[in-house]
Amino acid sequence: MKALFRKDFQNLNKYQSSIEEGFQDGMVILDANENPFPKAQNINRYPKLERNELMSLLSNQLGVNSDQLFIGNGSDEVLDLICRLFIDPKEDEVLLFEPSFSMFETLVKLNFGKPVKIQLDESFDIKVEEIKSELSRAKLIFICSPNNPTGNQLSKARLQSILSLAKGIVVVDEAYVEFADYSVLDWLKDYPNLIVTRTFSKAKGAAGIRIGYGIANPEIIAALDKISIPYTSSILNLNAAIEVLKNEEIQDEIIMIKNERLRLEQALATKKQAVKVYPSQANFLLVKFENANETYVYLKSNNVLVRNRSQLQGCENCLRLTIGTPEENQKLLNLLQ
Ligand code: PMP
Repeated sequence: MKALFRKDFQNLNKYQSSIEEGFQDGMVILDANENPFPKAQNINRYPKLERNELMSLLSNQLGVNSDQLFIGNGSDEVLDLICRLFIDPKEDEVLLFEPSFSMFETLVKLNFGKPVKIQLDESFDIKVEEIKSELSRAKLIFICSPNNPTGNQLSKARLQSILSLAKGIVVVDEAYVEFADYSVLDWLKDYPNLIVTRTFSKAKGAAGIRIGYGIANPEIIAALDKISIPYTSSILNLNAAIEVLKNEEIQDEIIMIKNERLRLEQALATKKQAVKVYPSQANFLLVKFENANETYVYLKSNNVLVRNRSQLQGCENCLRLTIGTPEENQKLLNLLQ
């Protein structure tokens, strides 16, 4: 693994935060230049135990060890740090697929990587046989499954062959996995070069708290810890995330969203202007319209905002529709009548 880290990583000194100095509950804390007078939710202190509590709850729920978990300010931050950790500036190729989550390319460019972009096939899956040399050359490979904006989950067999062919790090972004059929989390024990990223922003219903996480082998996690800004998630966000994990109603919401996805899919299939509804394993549907731009403007003028993806190759005339509440979805369907 060490050989894959950015060359100058080894010479980096890690900032020692209060937790790493051996902080324990009940201690007199005079090490971090905080204001000592207590405030609600402990906000006079840097986050310490809150992060550990979230890590322990999350690791229990996921069935992984705490040393396999890295918590960031949204999964966007985790993805950015992954780029920073592995990309040797202006040297390393990073494999990206299109159409997919556009932030991958932005982050690769911001971290001076060389994006190598491969078009997905007609069913928005990866043509593994045709890209063997690219797979073995890339330092990093970003895969989004279920894929945003297309909604499909990549085929298991193809993902597995990508992992066996890759010489670098394979990131599987599972931002939408709670709505899907399978996860690659179990594969971590077979592939030390696999990083799975997830988020509180989608199924967990907490986009506002900006918490995301990466799951990987402890060597990668320790390296991410080493390069990250200390105390990156606030006490308020960590506490909110702890509450989210304890809230069992979220499971019912996920079921409701999946039911609504099916209802919307079936109802859209009967609408003449919806030319094709792509199969989805996420909380949105990609839909090809007769004239997506016109439909987009019409919906917007009626106070319904959807995402126009028509400009992306492979998504011509497509809108991405997030599954809303039953009432919101009905309003959308009525407008499309
Ligand atoms: N990955 C994918 C595939 C996404 O769609 C998004 C959000 N649009 C993210 C990551 C970023 O999520 P977060 O809110 O955790 O930064």
